[in-house]
Amino acid sequence: MSGLALFGYLIDLLAVLLLALGLKGLSKVRSARSANGLAALAMGLAVVGLLIQLAPSPVAWLWIAVGTAAGGLLGLITARRVPMTSMPETVALFNGCGGMASLLVAIAVALYNSAASDMVALVSIVISVFVGAITFSGSIVAMGKLQGWIDTPGWTQSQVRHGVNIAIAIAALVGAFSLPGDPAGSSLWLLVVASSLLGIGVTLPIGGADMPVVISLLNSYSGVAAAAAGFVVNSQLLIVAGAMVGAAGLILTQVMCKGMNRSLVSVLFGGALGGGAPVGGGGQEAGYSRIVSCSPEECAMALENAERVVFVPGYGLAVAQAQHALRELAKMLEANGSEVSYAIHPVAGRMPGHMNVLLAEADVPYEQLLEMDTINPEFPRTDVVIVLGANDVVNPDAKNDRNSPLYGMPVLEVDGARQVFVVKRSMGAGYAGIKNALFELPQTAMVFGDAKAVLNGLLSELRDLGVGKKAA
Ligand code: NAP
Repeated sequence: MSGLALFGYLIDLLAVLLLALGLKGLSKVRSARSANGLAALAMGLAVVGLLIQLAPSPVAWLWIAVGTAAGGLLGLITARRVPMTSMPETVALFNGCGGMASLLVAIAVALYNSAASDMVALVSIVISVFVGAITFSGSIVAMGKLQGWIDTPGWTQSQVRHGVNIAIAIAALVGAFSLPGDPAGSSLWLLVVASSLLGIGVTLPIGGADMPVVISLLNSYSGVAAAAAGFVVNSQLLIVAGAMVGAAGLILTQVMCKGMNRSLVSVLFGGALGGGAPVGGGGQEAGYSRIVSCSPEECAMALENAERVVFVPGYGLAVAQAQHALRELAKMLEANGSEVSYAIHPVAGRMPGHMNVLLAEADVPYEQLLEMDTINPEFPRTDVVIVLGANDVVNPDAKNDRNSPLYGMPVLEVDGARQVFVVKRSMGAGYAGIKNALFELPQTAMVFGDAKAVLNGLLSELRDLGVGKKAA
């Protein structure tokens, strides 16, 4: 091995270490931002390492430089333009790109590299094509469903879909097993087409509240596909990075399944949870019999005298971008002598950690963010709970109604508090598209309006009550 190639390998090794450190740092809110920077640096070093190992090959360098610049620019534009509320769709798209890259690499090697005839290379190509194609088509369907572009067809909710998926899987197996005799011919294309259809067939029936789990699983698949592509092109860096992404995605999938009390099998084969609702939120106004609404003024009066206040942020808070107004209100209440905390549900919002990121933007102290298991026993000694644009994650039917699509999902038990104010714009449903029994309870009052407008209203009412002066 030449000195230059050895130098390239050392850079690869450094990239792997930085990537591992980056992944580790992502597990804590405090270190997440710098960890993300480390992982990006690792990816940059990986490209440099590759350029050095290829030296001097102007044509290959040009292709890599153009690809890196184009991909980097698209990534930069996407990251700057996509709002936080659309992050799951973006993650799904990125997963799809990862799957497609592995798929294309494997196809290219199968078509143009005669060395691809040994058994290890052939098995790697099969895995890379199979997992890469499923990841690509499944992620595009997931993104389309989250955007509301793709509905859940009726037939996918019946047993027919299992028959269809099994038939497609058999076709993919035929392609895989006949590939050694015909690596660049029809077997390859059968495997590509059948695997892509399987990705669509498996993802299409899944809807509503289960989609975050699927996206996380597809993230794991994109890592597996990349690791397999690493074997195809003999890149240790790709193997290690792909394996880390695959394992991290799988762990996240498990954490999310636990948060929703769902098994992975029931997510993948159980049909669309909340599939009848327009995916991505909204939903019909379900029939409620007893609803009490109140003004920000009444809510402010309850807050003025509350010793303990818990805010429950949800998707609507992110839509309204009301995190700064919330922080201001919390500061005012604290200065008035109230104990304030924030109840964080693991799947509140539209991506894991969504609420943590949102509240961190407004400099809410981390120690005030209490996870579900910590805050639930505290609700009975809470005077006032303010639910801000959250719906499914506070629905008591998830505990009490066996027929509810949410049944079994652990929820924030805000119904145990003395008084609950729900801030939302209408009686419209949340992400799962179902009625919320919380809204009809005697201790609940609705404060209708955009979360930011209501919070600003509360701030001015509290100032009128003299709370602002006391705070100052
Ligand atoms: P949710 O159930 O989707 O409810 C959000 C509520 O916010 C709606 O009822 C909506 O009611 C209200 N809202 C919307 N815009 C608002 C605004 N500007 N001001 C005030 N309220 C507003 O949200 P959630 O309780 O956070 O639950 C999350 C759901 O998303 C769960 O079902 C979860 O499984 C699913 N999900 C989670 C993830 C994840 O990883 N976190 C990813 C995808 C899906 P109005 O329209 O009446 O205002």
